[in-house]
Amino acid sequence: MTWLVPDSLWWDGRLRTGVALRDGRAVALAEVPPGAERRRLPGTVLPGLGDAHVHSALVDVPTLHAGGLAYVWDLGGVPEKVAALAARHPWVRYAGPFLTAPGGYPTDRAWAPAGSCREVRSAADAHDAVGEAHAAGATLIKVTAHAGAPMLPAATTRAVVTAAHALGLPVVVHAEGPGTVAGAYEAGADLLAHTPWTEAVDPALARDCAGRMTWISTLDIHGWGTPTPARGTAIGNLRLFLGYGGKVRYGTDLGNGPLPPAINPRELRALQEAGLTPPDLLAAMTEPGRPELSWLPAGLDLDPATFAASLATARVLGPGVQPRHIAGP
Ligand SMILES: [Zn+2]
Repeated sequence: MTWLVPDSLWWDGRLRTGVALRDGRAVALAEVPPGAERRRLPGTVLPGLGDAHVHSALVDVPTLHAGGLAYVWDLGGVPEKVAALAARHPWVRYAGPFLTAPGGYPTDRAWAPAGSCREVRSAADAHDAVGEAHAAGATLIKVTAHAGAPMLPAATTRAVVTAAHALGLPVVVHAEGPGTVAGAYEAGADLLAHTPWTEAVDPALARDCAGRMTWISTLDIHGWGTPTPARGTAIGNLRLFLGYGGKVRYGTDLGNGPLPPAINPRELRALQEAGLTPPDLLAAMTEPGRPELSWLPAGLDLDPATFAASLATARVLGPGVQPRHIAGP
């Protein structure tokens, strides 16, 4: 195995120099065995930067790798298609289908491909639906609750969560409209697919959510760079949630609207508006234990004013970046 020797390494939440990396372990350069093969890189190596909300039916996933995303979470698609994609691209983690009420969101949407929704008819059926997604390789479960369409009864959503947790799968809820965030929290969901944007979240509810949930950001879907009331509501909700210690993951809902098929500096800047620092943003984009690595050829820039634009130049460190072998000391 080759040792990676970058100019600097962002690892375990801090920037280090004079270190080498192998198998996810950083060691002082002096500890690299003499004669061991090294691959030197200018700039900074860091854990893989990813997007926790994409839809592979609506965006070309291999393009995202070229756009600097080292891994993605597909949060709703046709299970067989997403599974086939992930077999070719193991950096795709996926939820399988949207679990929804009969006639619920997004069964009524033109963008939702046939087979991407699994209507759940009862608590017993919830158990089957989760088992099907798991059998298709899902490592997350996606549930939708849209107040403008039929929604699952609370007991059915709880049954989805119970079945998912029994298999070790976290549950991500699309919560849209009055009462849906509280419903997701009360059902025991682990994540929200979007920072709530349809109304201001009550502070007590934000505090409860912060104690247990992670919210996926998706702030830039509101206006794509042009301020909108929904964007302001979402940023206010996220600020409140973070103030109570809530955890956020960077996610953009790629496939939904004119988003760059890449790391999105507007999403990063919106997260900064909600109070995240550059180190917080790096934590929100990286997932402990993932094998992928990202690379910033010009080095990591932690200046809040220029961080977003500079992070968007990150590349995925893969076989396309050829090693340069140098002799040991
Ligand atoms: Zn989505």
